[in-house]
Amino acid sequence: MKMKRIVLSASTAAVIIFFSAGCSEKNSSYISKTDFYLWTTCTLALPEGTDEEYFNQGFAILEDIENKMSTTIPDSEVSAVNRAAGNSPVPVSEDVFTVIKEGLRISEISQGAFDISVGPLVNLWNIGKPEAAVPDPVQLLETLPLVDYEHVTLDEASREVFLTRQDMALDLGGIAKGFAADKLAGYFQAEGIQQGLIDLGGNISVLGRKSERRPWKVGIQNPEDERGGYLGILSAEDTSIVTSGIYERFFIEDGKQYHHILDTENGYPAENRLASVTLVCPVSLTADALSTALFVLGLEKGLVLAESLDEVDAVFVTKDRKIFITSGIKDDFSVTNDDFTLQENENPGA
Ligand code: ADP
Ligand code: MG
Repeated sequence: MKMKRIVLSASTAAVIIFFSAGCSEKNSSYISKTDFYLWTTCTLALPEGTDEEYFNQGFAILEDIENKMSTTIPDSEVSAVNRAAGNSPVPVSEDVFTVIKEGLRISEISQGAFDISVGPLVNLWNIGKPEAAVPDPVQLLETLPLVDYEHVTLDEASREVFLTRQDMALDLGGIAKGFAADKLAGYFQAEGIQQGLIDLGGNISVLGRKSERRPWKVGIQNPEDERGGYLGILSAEDTSIVTSGIYERFFIEDGKQYHHILDTENGYPAENRLASVTLVCPVSLTADALSTALFVLGLEKGLVLAESLDEVDAVFVTKDRKIFITSGIKDDFSVTNDDFTLQENENPGA
């Protein structure tokens, strides 16, 4: 008999942000507003005195992106592409085209660890829904061949997307929030807002510094702490910080925990030494896709890939409480929880 299933959704943000600043500082006060878009809690923090209209426009941008990219909204562009799988190419907006194109680039550099055509697997697991359950292994095996980014074709001139096999399906859950964060940051900057913070369910982008004298401080969540405690702090300025972890969205069946980042090789939640990966990159679109990709790749391959890319850094947290960071953030990251130890990268096996 099956044990009672417990479903937990992404209620905890992956990172904690420090809003309060020393009282003697200038430009350090922010107002924040929160709403629910893109399957998660979204918070915008802008300097005190910012007109309400900028917040409203910001949330309108999020709603528009959700309407284009959701797989559960039947008239979204992504739903139209999925319905036409194996049949015909579908013209899409510049936004959707940009996300799919970057998704395919990250698929290539991660050799398919990240794959936006993961839709049929996500549907089989019912990830994020109350009915989430371990699928029948035979059905899982039959679904695997449908997940293959090499069968997603793009036509730049006509801006069309074609899934060449029937029953293929895109799922932009691992990348859409990053795109949304970039779009918001671009909008605020174009309106002359130079400081601020965008938190889309733990997908963080910071504009400028928090104050004249200080960068933003972003807490990296302790993957073991359900109450949202953090294990370290990253200093950040004009960048994006995105975490993928086993604790973000999962369910428990027969005492075993199943999380929402799938290994496209075997169809099961990616299982390796990692509890979480935090990606640091000025482009949030890239940061979001790469955090998912590195999580699937695991510590050793993930570290190599992160070090090989320009303007990309990462914090890897293992299940046995070790922390590995790339060389570019040595001076920006500090461990704040004694249960975790920062490791030398030369020997990730230690
Ligand atoms: P979160 O959405 O919780 O911030 P991620 O950015 O890591 O976390 O994205 C996880 C989501 O990405 C899943 O819910 C699913 O929609 C999708 N996904 C799962 N596995 C993969 C994969 N291997 N490649 C691309 N997308 C994936
Ligand atoms: Mg992601």
